[in-house]
Amino acid sequence: MRIPLIAGNWKMNNNIHESISLVNNLIQLSNDFNNNVEVLVCVPFTALYSIRKLLNSSNIKLGAQNMHYDEKGAYTGEISPLMLKEIGVEYVIVGHSERRQYFNETDESVNKKLKSSINFAIKPILCIGETLEQRERKIEKITVENQIINAFKDIKAEDAVKVVIAYEPIWAIGTGKTATSEEANEMSSFIRNVFKELYNEELAKQVIVLYGGSVKGENASELMNQTDIDGALVGGASLSAEEFIRIINFN
Ligand code: PGA
Repeated sequence: MRIPLIAGNWKMNNNIHESISLVNNLIQLSNDFNNNVEVLVCVPFTALYSIRKLLNSSNIKLGAQNMHYDEKGAYTGEISPLMLKEIGVEYVIVGHSERRQYFNETDESVNKKLKSSINFAIKPILCIGETLEQRERKIEKITVENQIINAFKDIKAEDAVKVVIAYEPIWAIGTGKTATSEEANEMSSFIRNVFKELYNEELAKQVIVLYGGSVKGENASELMNQTDIDGALVGGASLSAEEFIRIINFN
């Protein structure tokens, strides 16, 4: 049984004060959360510590948006997996398209981060997805397949199953343009096929595949009810407690 995961990715939004206020709103409303769904907020590094303390008395999980792959060293400005562990971070987003695009994240660094997060028992959410140009050239599947093959290089099946996949077509991120539920489901099922080829059928059935890209209260149900989609990675709409809860309570 795959448990649906609704993950908020706040990106570079919310100072500590705003973060506390948003999470307090979520906690207050959490009694009404859809019971079968795991809820996660991936907050800026500066808010992790304060939010961890708030979340201790709730079912909402805490995630970071990035990390370095080494446990310590001369990497000015970076945050290590050990530092995240110390705070009690449970999840980390790896290879978000904004990091690949603006911060030179490569398939190689994504692979290192994936291995490191598994090593430190922080659950990785691996982001993959094609650009509009790649979709128009009809190479979206091969693009996604290559991203998976490269990200999972030298990762064994028993570890691969711990990775959550977020399929995020880049043209749908922050644009208000959502992939249709058919497009999103088709790619999610293709992703499972890639896992079947790379590993085995059992793993392909077990892996959690999220959709991300302009998910809102309004389109959540249709997307979440697709056979191969197990939840959502939500950017903009996770900045409002009311909107995020509409997504959590999809039916
Ligand atoms: P969006 O972002 O929901 O604002 O489109 C999703 C993401 O980038 O994870």
